Amino acid sequence: MNEPADSTDILADFFRLSRQKNRFVLMLDYDGTLSPFTPDRDNAKPYPEIMNLVNDINKKENHRVVIISGRSISLLKKLIGSEYKLELWGSHGYERINRNGKSSIAEIDENSRKNLEEIKHLLENKEEFKGLTETKPVGVVLHWRGQGREIQKKIGTFIEKKIRKLTENTELLIHNIDNGIEIKHGRLNKGDAVKSIISEENVEDTSFVYLGDDLTDEDAFEAVNVVGLSVLVRNEFRPTIAQTWIKPPEELFHFLRKWSLQ
Ligand SMILES: [Mg+2]
Repeated sequence: MNEPADSTDILADFFRLSRQKNRFVLMLDYDGTLSPFTPDRDNAKPYPEIMNLVNDINKKENHRVVIISGRSISLLKKLIGSEYKLELWGSHGYERINRNGKSSIAEIDENSRKNLEEIKHLLENKEEFKGLTETKPVGVVLHWRGQGREIQKKIGTFIEKKIRKLTENTELLIHNIDNGIEIKHGRLNKGDAVKSIISEENVEDTSFVYLGDDLTDEDAFEAVNVVGLSVLVRNEFRPTIAQTWIKPPEELFHFLRKWSLQ
């Protein structure tokens, strides 16, 4: 949608249809969705009490809750709290851990793996980018939230001069994200994670919803739009293919409480 839609009718219609199903799959992004943005990314804690609510839903029969994030699973677990036994898909779906702790990671081709290691090495050793680099199993991110324009420019120049050529003839891609740049293996995205989750369910009898805020969530919105509802969770509206828009945290809490009553 290019204009903010009135979410009231869309959500009312959705919940009316959803209640006719016997299984409920809630898919959530983490940063900006379950947690407010902070320049201190390593300490991006969830909104107070929200994980208890998510966890209560997770424990309900006929419910499945999945957090799908660009972050690595190890970092995600640290932020969410290890007391919650949730299904997590990390690194845009390359890593996966189920509720019982069984984990798996998607394989990447040798050429991409080798060049990604070199890119990580270059960025981690760049003094000016200290504290801005987040390394992941299949990618690396440079964050400039809370930084000046100067550093943003420097990152852009460094990417073009030193990094871009290392992504050529590989499956590595350079993506713009909210307030940063991500270099990652490009075969899988959040949309693939959503498609995999959907394929594991009986679509006819299941209600699906995906909530997210970032540009990387657009793939997930597209995938869930085929079978369920996509919700943009954001304080300011932006053009999106999500079907509706809510503001965190109040409207998000409201949505989740309603979802938990099914
Ligand atoms: Mg996000």
